[in-house]
Amino acid sequence: MKQTILVTGGTGFIGSHTTVELIEAGYNVVIVDNLSNSKIEVLDGIEKITGVRPAFEQVDLRDKEATESVFRKYPAIEGIIHFAASKAVGESVQQPLMYYRNNVISLINLLELMPEYGVKGIIFSSSCTVYGQPKPEHLPVTESAPHQKATSPYGNTKEINEQIIYDYIHSGAGIKSIVLRYFNPIGAHPTALIGELPNGVPNNLIPYVTQTAMGIREQLTIFGNDYNTPDGTCIRDYIYVVDLAKAHVAAMARVLDKQTEPVEYFNIGTGSGNSTLEIVTTFEQATGVKVNWKYGPRREGDIEKIWGDCTHANTVLGWKADTPLADVLASAWKWQQKLREDGVM
Ligand code: UDP
Repeated sequence: MKQTILVTGGTGFIGSHTTVELIEAGYNVVIVDNLSNSKIEVLDGIEKITGVRPAFEQVDLRDKEATESVFRKYPAIEGIIHFAASKAVGESVQQPLMYYRNNVISLINLLELMPEYGVKGIIFSSSCTVYGQPKPEHLPVTESAPHQKATSPYGNTKEINEQIIYDYIHSGAGIKSIVLRYFNPIGAHPTALIGELPNGVPNNLIPYVTQTAMGIREQLTIFGNDYNTPDGTCIRDYIYVVDLAKAHVAAMARVLDKQTEPVEYFNIGTGSGNSTLEIVTTFEQATGVKVNWKYGPRREGDIEKIWGDCTHANTVLGWKADTPLADVLASAWKWQQKLREDGVM
């Protein structure tokens, strides 16, 4: 029988791509989202791709009673993938309490309800932000690299939530968890029926690149070219969102169906890094579209270079990110073109 998975934040960027992969792998999906940063029409995209419209509940996970009503309505839920969270670093500095309330209380509510409703496992969306700037000898960074103090309330919520999961499970809660530490998720589904919809001026590199290529933004600023890297610009591990989504399917199968440690941690990236400049030039080559860009000052708080050692995920989850960067960037462009076609932007 098909297992039922609750996907919180399922209409968001990573949540929607993961819902598609879960459905295609044969799971039933129930989405919970408060639509604070996503649109209900995302369900149409998921349905067009998979032929299945997932169940949807507009619920705010900070509201424990409303959250509990979801478990009552869908008693078959066996696993949770918890994406729902606020994720803008700058906003978290301006509104720290909102971030702690959204990101921490929601997780606590879910964890409290899991044993009561027989939910066995939870996959948690964490981030390589927990590593801060790793020392050169720790690159590529492994799961056992030391954590560093978070530089924003957003980053701190990832660290705190990892700790909450660990403490709860070690208290004998009788549930299991897999923590996935994402590097930089980018791109869109190859159909361009779902993708990333940033609010206002994008903070992240790829939406800024595609919006500049489209003429929505006049010029991309590359933040800093005096870093200690081969071309002087920052290095990140850019992971295709569809590859990332597939990692969740592998993690869910593992947490539900295998005898494993109660909490496990995996880096989810490609295993190699690209500079900001390489991203821009690869985008231009892959799409044939020029990007108007200039160098500007460093962005405060930016990490110079990080990329992940993903051997643990490759061997234990049997998962690997294998989509070439040029294809990934082309998918982001196709999505931007679709947004124009649909009159969204
Ligand atoms: N970046 C940039 N210009 C922009 C947005 C981002 O040069 O308009 C750079 C940023 O300095 C970083 C990289 O692109 O080195 C990735 O930034 P993003 O905000 O996408 O992710 P994160 O900082 O969380 O890794």
